[in-house]
Amino acid sequence: MPDFIANSPAFKPPAPQPEPKVAPDFVLPPFTEQLYPSAIGGHRDAIVAASLPVLADVAAQANACEKCELCKTRMKAVPGVGSARSGIVFVGEAPGADEDLRGEPFVGRAGELLTKMIEGMHQRALIPGVKLDRDEVYIVNVLKCRPPDNRNPLPHEIEACSPYVMRQLEALQPRVICCLGKFAAELLLGMKGTISSMRGKTYRWKGAKLIVTYHPAYCLRSPSAKRPVWDDLQRLAQEYLTD
Ligand code: SF4
Repeated sequence: MPDFIANSPAFKPPAPQPEPKVAPDFVLPPFTEQLYPSAIGGHRDAIVAASLPVLADVAAQANACEKCELCKTRMKAVPGVGSARSGIVFVGEAPGADEDLRGEPFVGRAGELLTKMIEGMHQRALIPGVKLDRDEVYIVNVLKCRPPDNRNPLPHEIEACSPYVMRQLEALQPRVICCLGKFAAELLLGMKGTISSMRGKTYRWKGAKLIVTYHPAYCLRSPSAKRPVWDDLQRLAQEYLTD
């Protein structure tokens, strides 16, 4: 059992999980696009090199952005961190207070948990031969600026900001995208639903496989969610390793 689950004081054995369901009116698109490459065999070097100027440009644009009113209350924009090297991208919701101060995503308590999850994947060698840590994956949010009082993102804010994350994903060409929470999943899948209805299934976003799991902040509030998150990370690894 990885440390981030075992060390949780409130850990309880997982309750039986209901069979995952996709929203009934959602039809998966056909998988016509070729999968982006994995990091096994050094097939991502060109993607890494090509992504750097795009990621830098998105960061510069976000830092200067005034497309929505969140620019008035932010301390720093939070463009994203990491690398295209592993081909794994985690997409969260929006910066919190710690992220707003530092300009880096997932650096508060939820960020520490995400870091432990990534390290747990590495320690368990879920993807043999691929190094996994914060520098090797890419971590990004749907919104680049903190909503006041950590409220949920508003639809017009997502509409204004989402071109940035889309451009980042196009440059990163991830093998697998892991949506952390409802807002990332709804944006990238174009569907509405609860996390429990969307997780447990593999989707596609262009040449990436996509899975959905709970946001680390939810795991802090509900520690029993750590077990299904670990199940989802194992699914991520399996999907990464298969065409
Ligand atoms: S949240 Fe996004 S769209 Fe709004 S000001 Fe920040 S970077 Fe611009």
